[in-house]
Amino acid sequence: MTDPAAVARLAEDLTSGLKTGDLEDFYRDLHRHPELAFQEHRTAARLAARLRAAGFEVAEGVGRTGVVGVLANGDGPVVWLRGDMDALPVQEATGLPYASTVDGVMHACGHDVHVTWLAGAAEALAAGRAVWSGTLVVVGQPAEEAGGGAGAMVADGVHERFPRPDALFGQHVAPGLAGFFPHTPGLTMSASDDIEVVVHGVGGHGSRPESTVDPVVTAAYIVTRLQSVVSREVAAKDSAVVTVGQFHAGTKSNVIPAEARLSLNLRTQEPHVRERVLAAIRRVVEGECLAAGCPVPPEVLLTPGYPNTVNDAALDEEIAAVHRQLFGDFTVFDFGPAMGSEDFSLLAPEGVPYDYWYVTSTPAAVWDAAPGEELAEKLANVPGNHSALFAPDLSVLLPGVRTLVSAALSRFTA
Ligand code: ZN
Ligand code: ZN
Repeated sequence: MTDPAAVARLAEDLTSGLKTGDLEDFYRDLHRHPELAFQEHRTAARLAARLRAAGFEVAEGVGRTGVVGVLANGDGPVVWLRGDMDALPVQEATGLPYASTVDGVMHACGHDVHVTWLAGAAEALAAGRAVWSGTLVVVGQPAEEAGGGAGAMVADGVHERFPRPDALFGQHVAPGLAGFFPHTPGLTMSASDDIEVVVHGVGGHGSRPESTVDPVVTAAYIVTRLQSVVSREVAAKDSAVVTVGQFHAGTKSNVIPAEARLSLNLRTQEPHVRERVLAAIRRVVEGECLAAGCPVPPEVLLTPGYPNTVNDAALDEEIAAVHRQLFGDFTVFDFGPAMGSEDFSLLAPEGVPYDYWYVTSTPAAVWDAAPGEELAEKLANVPGNHSALFAPDLSVLLPGVRTLVSAALSRFTA
């Protein structure tokens, strides 16, 4: 279907029968029972049950805890709708009546919203199957946060065991006054890599540093010198972030330890920048260890994380047009690529177009009360993803279902 206005009308029709209270109950239940990466057994079972009840053929345990539901509805394109299901090791501090009941675990990234959207979209499209033709595949992905969930599903044959997608859609709740749908044609999220560094020094008594090679000082120089990688080696037009998130060394004030460990995270948006920054990190680490006289070369272990997420520009423009029809021109805008990362794109086979957009979810009262005049100031002052205070407004549940339903309808045959 190609006329955005017609698609939007159809999406409204198909979702008009959904009960907001039911979606809210489902969401609150998921929020109360968050599960960490690859432990999403209860969440997966809840999603699978709803998909089965709606008439989908459902496979569980795909990529360990993933769920795949297939609704074959005649000739036409195969559309995948993907949502991630895992929670985070965060102690919830929202004080909500439906706050997490699991100590130290919270749906702080809003993946419970994503599962609710998937369930609602699956049910609406199944109930309205008379008006579209094609195959709908609903993918509940595990372990987006801890890494490896999408990769695990691919390794488990998600592209071979189920109908291969002709188009793939995903969306994420984001901070910002609830009810906007940012869309970016092209690059929308960055590549992420983790790097572990081990500095091998020579330990000894704190009173006799001359008999040691102090890895604390060496690692401190590394941290400092790494700050010049982005500022001095990356062109102003390019983007990169190098963060040292962990620095572990030592046990006692008068003992010089034998090693220090650093954990780095790298975000980039272009392969040539990534290569350049990775090479610089290796050079800085090796150079500082050489300068300090470390007896053994350092270890630099790269764990490749997520690739860039690059929306198909034509597909994004098509879906953005539909969402404008649904919610108003002013609700859809492009805020450019983010430094956040996702493994969503791994679920798209080579060459298959995909589109990933955002649904802003900050409650109006929270947004209005946040200090600041400019959008950026306000954004900095409301709880964002991964915050212990992150609390998406329930008003985004139905719109998030509509965005998915309309995207699928836009691709399906009438
Ligand atoms: Zn997250
Ligand atoms: Zn997330």
